[in-house]
Amino acid sequence: MKLSEKPKEKNIAPPLWLLAEVTYRCPLNCVFCYNPVDYAKQHNELTTAEWVKVLREGRKMGAAQLGLSGGEPLLRKDLEEIVEEARKLGYYVNLLTSGIGMTEERIKNLKTAGLDHIQLSFQDSTKEMNDFLSSTKTFDLKKKVAGLIKKYDYPMVLNCVLHRLNIDHIEQILNMAEAMGAEFVELANTQFYSWGMLNRDQLLPSEEQLKRAEKITHKFRDRLGNKMKLFFIMPDYYSTRPKKCMNGWGNVFITVQADGMVLPCHVASMLPDINFESVRNKSLDWIWYKSPGFNKFRGDDWMKEPCKSCPEKENDLGGCRCQAFMLTGDPNAADPVCDKSPHHSKISEAVIASQKPSNYERPIVFRTDNDSRKIMQKRDKGQLDIRSSRLLERDSKPSKEKSRVGLV
Ligand code: SF4
Ligand code: SF4
Repeated sequence: MKLSEKPKEKNIAPPLWLLAEVTYRCPLNCVFCYNPVDYAKQHNELTTAEWVKVLREGRKMGAAQLGLSGGEPLLRKDLEEIVEEARKLGYYVNLLTSGIGMTEERIKNLKTAGLDHIQLSFQDSTKEMNDFLSSTKTFDLKKKVAGLIKKYDYPMVLNCVLHRLNIDHIEQILNMAEAMGAEFVELANTQFYSWGMLNRDQLLPSEEQLKRAEKITHKFRDRLGNKMKLFFIMPDYYSTRPKKCMNGWGNVFITVQADGMVLPCHVASMLPDINFESVRNKSLDWIWYKSPGFNKFRGDDWMKEPCKSCPEKENDLGGCRCQAFMLTGDPNAADPVCDKSPHHSKISEAVIASQKPSNYERPIVFRTDNDSRKIMQKRDKGQLDIRSSRLLERDSKPSKEKSRVGLV
């Protein structure tokens, strides 16, 4: 197909990655889930025809990589149709899955439809911890899916989100990955957004835990070399400079949520005073190039001190807007991860607290439809603390549907 040769608006590059969060339904209840805390406001997922329209529009703009995630994308019965259309359009199609819902028949059909890549997530190396951390009995099933991925000749890409409760099992996790024949393993420390932020005090590892985990990862890297490539992603709480979030706001990634809302990253709906648009009302092209939401934090005009006059601003563009808002209440502030930020103590205090043995006042919160609804209700009654209430879109309301979120 013919791609648009030039971006329509000066200085705005076209998106390269389209992230399609095709559903927020999920059989798992992960404590670090990156779905919005108020995801239960949604029940009206895009239909197959609407997703096909999104894919066409994205490809026309120049997007070449498609990530199909959720929730659990396999819960969409039309996933094969979506994959087939995406492949026809010329996307490289990635499926990010917990594996639940994958059967031999489905993987065969997905392969025929043209699926290029599967990333399978684990919670831990043992049945007990995997099942506790996802609040489901899914470990054995995931192992079967790993076997199917090999059988159908996909590269084995395992992802395990690390945190205080599982990071000490890293050796067992890597042994498990090796035994499964994994070619790539992503050990991504929890980043503290959404449900991860609600559970931050329980999930932030100590420095000693991180150092040990890094050491073990190096040991495996030295032994296995290219046979099993390891990616260890540090939590940014242990840095003094933030990351260039999403490689720049509205620069590379465009995320379409299950109900069609379009965002520069999967949690940006929490930011105040921005009306993000839906593909149900506007074209993807208009949203990317012209919408106030996507233009809000492009470039550096929005910055204030210390970022405005900072000689390093090109490196990180002031870090993450959502993290700045969650921790300071001001989306224009420097990301507090930066030690030049006047709010850096919000990060260092959490890090200091994490060095002590665990002693939590709050129970861990599992990501469930019910809890998502309850959190919105608590916010409406003024019973939610400020830090948690910033994780929700200001006026989000629980969907009236009593059934699982998102059923079409
Ligand atoms: S992080 Fe866990 S609960 Fe959240 S969408 Fe992924 S598998 Fe489901
Ligand atoms: S002050 Fe702002 S621009 Fe400078 S390094 Fe820190 S976050 Fe980045």
